[in-house]
Amino acid sequence: MIDSADIVIIGSGGLGAATAYYLAKRGTHRIALLERLEIGSQTSPRAAGMVNCLRKSDLMIELIKRAVAGIRQFSADTGQPLDWVQSGSLKVARRRADAEVIQEDILRGRRHGLDVEELSLDAAHRLNPSLQTTGVAAVMRIGDDMYFNPAQLAVGFARAAQANGAVLLPNTAVTCILIADGEVSGVDTTAGRIHAPIVVDAAGAWTRQVAEACGIRVPLVTTAQQLFVTEPVPDARCPSRLADDQNHGCCGVHETL
Ligand SMILES: Cc1cc2nc3c(=O)[nH]c(=O)nc-3n(C[C@H](O)[C@H](O)[C@H](O)COP(=O)(O)OP(=O)(O)OC[C@H]3O[C@@H](n4cnc5c(N)ncnc54)[C@H](O)[C@@H]3O)c2cc1C
Repeated sequence: MIDSADIVIIGSGGLGAATAYYLAKRGTHRIALLERLEIGSQTSPRAAGMVNCLRKSDLMIELIKRAVAGIRQFSADTGQPLDWVQSGSLKVARRRADAEVIQEDILRGRRHGLDVEELSLDAAHRLNPSLQTTGVAAVMRIGDDMYFNPAQLAVGFARAAQANGAVLLPNTAVTCILIADGEVSGVDTTAGRIHAPIVVDAAGAWTRQVAEACGIRVPLVTTAQQLFVTEPVPDARCPSRLADDQNHGCCGVHETL
């Protein structure tokens, strides 16, 4: 256990671990990454790992483009493994109103240099034979979309942060962010106090609870989702499967929002 750091990061999911890595890489500050459970063990490794490039706002598209570049460079940059596949994806509209949305999406995607096009129903069926096109109004292809192995990302960032000098503290829950005279002075944890002038709350779905423990209100609301995992679906094709694919994507994880 340490008793001081320049920057304390709460939460070792994808966001916290990446923050720790990029700060540690600068080599200018003592970084401590605190995690109440095992490093990178909560939401981040359980994601589907899909990267959808075509978003509604220009800002989001530019952010995702940076994320894609980061994923491609991840192993070269961090020295950690990350399996990813640029599979592309199909977006299917069943109603006329949704077909109009697809036309807008294509225009916006082209404006940002994305590989997007409208497909005929036959072409869509050839690309994905399990897609039944009866009742489909329009289909577009987004060639830039990809997926990656989410189990590798947060842990990889955390290991790379450690290799650059960050201190990893698993099984160390932050119980309170210390604030005096309007300034942050550190955190209390289940393993003792750490003094630090900068604290990053990257606690994911628990961000609000962590902030509320020191009287700060973060307008974040978590909502329940349902997830069911099936056996592989016959005839569903993955263009290329990740080596240690854990039944992700078209092979069996279904999410309802
Ligand atoms: C089923 C599912 C599928 C998803 N699919 C996708 C997808 O395909 N594409 C996509 O982009 N996104 C997807 N997401 C969303 C994505 O997983 C999350 O947005 C992302 O993982 C959040 O990362 P995070 O670092 O903010 O949170 P987390 O990974 O949850 O990390 C937060 C960490 O903070 C720790 N923590 C909490 N409180 C404390 C405390 N007091 N002290 C110390 N540590 C604390 C937690 O233990 C946790 O490890 C999916 C999510 C789910 C659940």
